Amino acid sequence: MKKNTICFLLCGLLIGEYSFTSSVFAQTKEISKPKNVIYMIGDGMGFGQMEIARLFEHGKSGKLFMETLPNVAYVHTDSANQFVTDSAAGGTALATGFKTNNEMIGMKPNKQEIDSILDKFKNDGKKTGIITTSSVTDATPAAFTASVSDRWANQRDIASQQLKNQVDVLLGGGANKFKKTAPDEKDLITEFQKNGYTFVTNKEELATAKGEKLLGLFNQSHMNFKIDRDEKKSKEPSLTEMTEKGLEILAQNPNGFFLMVEGARIDHASHSADITSIWKETIEFDQAVQYAVEWAKKKQDTLVVVTADHETMGISEPEPINIKALKNISVSSSYMADLVKTKDKKIEDIRKMKEVLQRYAHLQLNNQAITDFINTCNHENEMVYQESHIAWEIGSLIAAHNHAGVSSNENRLLSSTGGHTGNPVPLFAFGDGSEEFEGVLNNVDVPRIIGKIMGYPL
Ligand SMILES: [Zn+2]
Repeated sequence: MKKNTICFLLCGLLIGEYSFTSSVFAQTKEISKPKNVIYMIGDGMGFGQMEIARLFEHGKSGKLFMETLPNVAYVHTDSANQFVTDSAAGGTALATGFKTNNEMIGMKPNKQEIDSILDKFKNDGKKTGIITTSSVTDATPAAFTASVSDRWANQRDIASQQLKNQVDVLLGGGANKFKKTAPDEKDLITEFQKNGYTFVTNKEELATAKGEKLLGLFNQSHMNFKIDRDEKKSKEPSLTEMTEKGLEILAQNPNGFFLMVEGARIDHASHSADITSIWKETIEFDQAVQYAVEWAKKKQDTLVVVTADHETMGISEPEPINIKALKNISVSSSYMADLVKTKDKKIEDIRKMKEVLQRYAHLQLNNQAITDFINTCNHENEMVYQESHIAWEIGSLIAAHNHAGVSSNENRLLSSTGGHTGNPVPLFAFGDGSEEFEGVLNNVDVPRIIGKIMGYPL
């Protein structure tokens, strides 16, 4: 046994808190290093969200595509200051390999800025991309491309940092974060274009887009929930279409690339206890995973890692759940809320509320029940995202009527994350180096293992 082999073995044992100590070191086998990495994050996608999607879409003996991948682990998601993380600290852990406090992005609790795994790929001459169904300045994409101490304070600052970082592909929602807000500010979309980016705003423009750098902003805010796209006559691309274009643009680079793809609205649907949308959004994400893995299979030089930043609302499928009724709901609870909300984010019209619940959720409530429900909507405050309060209440009402497994409204109202839980989340991997992901991991291990495989220590 050579000296360095022994050192390798010992080092592996000594740093046992990270899983890259496993069999690879004992066998002194070289880790196969991929050229490209596709990192896919289902925001808020715990085992419960996956189970809802699996059961609703494929039945009890069926499988999601991601469940067919060869390497599987599960991941604890606590943040530096809480056993329940928000998406800012969760995204930072998955992007940088360091834990931070809730609401902080791309920096340690002491505000020291940290490079993300995306930066490491960039420094190695690889192309980089970020795709999401939320605003591209939202917590998860921001964790890979920016550093800010408060995720809420300045989303425009995040967009400026994304320009400065020259992330090659940026696709998602959030156009209003790029607009000029003061006379001395620049319109950031124009600045991106000046820097050689092709700019697209809908599905058709995306399909024909060419060039080496691409900015696609398909909504002023988050992209629409999948379930609402027909109702809203949306021209937005699907997550799979964005992934397809992202891969086409990035793969032009002979040195390889790093691409993060986020199914962001699984989390938003979960906050609303909107079981129907959890199903649709998780399937949307699973289809993008399938596209990415099939692409990687052809290339034979790409690692795909699929995981989540945290679980939201303790979603589960108890025995009495009324799957048939839930599958019959035709719009998101957020869409229903928009129909009944006044400008002051209250419900005033009892008859309209009754009608909306009947039409879209097939719920018939008597006058007393409707009055009680409206009182709850109008007189309680969320600790975060008060603007979503009515949508969250509508979803919770529908979930309760259909016996879905979900955290109580009271727990959500008391939660600084609006209902996230500390439940562990799944991880699946495919391709070169995927065997490094196994067992019980912590969120910070995930980018550290990617870094280890690539030779980019974090
Ligand atoms: Zn959330």
